[in-house]
Amino acid sequence: MSGRTRYFMVVADGMADTPLAELGGLTPLRYRPRPQMAELAGQGGLFRVRTIPSGFSAGTETAMPLITGYDTSVLTGRGPVEAAGMGIALPAGQFAMRANLVRMAEDGTLTEACPDLSDEEGLAAGRLLAADAALAGELARVGWTFHPQPGFRQMITGPLPPPAGMTPPHNVQGDGIDGHWPTDALAPVVRRARALLRERGMALWPWGPGAWPHYEPFADKFGLHGAVISAVPVVRGMALLAGLEAPVVPGATGTLETDWRAKVDAALAAAARVPFVMLHLEAPDDCSHARSVEAELRAIAMIDEALARLRAGVGGPYRLLLLPDHVTSTETGRHGAEPVPWCVYDSERPAGIPTPFVEIDEGPVFAADIPLRTLLGQS
Ligand SMILES: [Zn+2]
Repeated sequence: MSGRTRYFMVVADGMADTPLAELGGLTPLRYRPRPQMAELAGQGGLFRVRTIPSGFSAGTETAMPLITGYDTSVLTGRGPVEAAGMGIALPAGQFAMRANLVRMAEDGTLTEACPDLSDEEGLAAGRLLAADAALAGELARVGWTFHPQPGFRQMITGPLPPPAGMTPPHNVQGDGIDGHWPTDALAPVVRRARALLRERGMALWPWGPGAWPHYEPFADKFGLHGAVISAVPVVRGMALLAGLEAPVVPGATGTLETDWRAKVDAALAAAARVPFVMLHLEAPDDCSHARSVEAELRAIAMIDEALARLRAGVGGPYRLLLLPDHVTSTETGRHGAEPVPWCVYDSERPAGIPTPFVEIDEGPVFAADIPLRTLLGQS
C-alpha cells in the first residue's frame, strides 16, 4: 500500500447496549473493555453521535446512510436498499419491501423474527411461495412480485405507492401474526403464505417498504472513491446506491460464525484500490437480538480482534473511525435510538492513554455525519 492516507470506517452493528442485570448493571462494553478499542478511544477521544433522528425507525436502515454522510431524504424505507443489495433492479415508480421468513409457533405466535435459516432453506421456502397459484393471484391483484432469496430475507416489489403501517417483526417478537396487516392487499398474502409455510413452522412477514431513493455518488460528495465490506443486504445496497464498491466476501455471514478474517482481508485488499473503506460487522446486533450476554461479549471480542488484524495489515498511514450504528439491547433484543459512542484514530499521531470504548451519557451529541467528516478531515 502506498504512503497515501487510508480512511477506515469500522461499524460494529448494534454494539452499543443497555445496562444488563447479568453483568451487574453494566453494558457489555463497560463490563469487559477491549484493548484495541481502548487504544483508539484513548488517542482520539470518545464522543457521542445521534444516528437515529426522531421519527425514524431505530435500525441499520436509518443509521447507515446517515453515518455515511447522507441526509434523511434517502430514507425511503429499507426495502429498496436491500433490493439493490440483492441485485434486484427497481424501475422508477416502484417500491420494494422486505419480507422475512419468520419462525412461528403453531398458535401463530411470532417466535423468531430473523431465524438462522441456511441459504438453501430460505430459497426453498421462497420458491415454494413463488410457485403457488393462489398466492400469485393475491399478488397479481395489486401488481406485486415476490422475489425468492437465499436465507430469511425475501423481497416483494410493486408499483407506488407502497403499503403503509407495517411493523418490523424484530420489534414484536412474542406477538401474534394477526393485527399487523393494515392494508387490504397484505392480509390475504400473509394468510396464504402462512398456510403454505405452517408445516415448516414459518410465516412470511412483509415490512420496510419504500420507493427507490436518490443517492448522490459518495465520490462526488466527499471526493474519495470507496468500498464497503458487509454481509448485510441493507448495507451492501446502500453502498451500491451510493456508487461505492461492495464486493461479496465468501464466508461473511453477518453472525458470530462469520469469517471475520476474510472480511478484514477484503477491507485491506479494497484499501489497496480505494482510499475509503467501510468495514461493517453485524455480529453484535445479531447476538443482542438473540439476547445472549455470553455471545454478545464474544461478538465484541471478535470486533476487537478484527481491529487488531486491520491495523496490523494496513502498512501505511491511516485514520480509523469506530462506531456502532445504533443501540441494540441484549436485555430486550430490541434496537434503541439513544446516541452511540464514536472515536477517530490517526496512525500519524502519538498514542494516547487507553480509555475504554463505552457508551457515554455526557458531552455534546454530534449530528450523524460528523464522525465521517471528522474521519475525512472535512468537518
Ligand atoms: Zn438489528
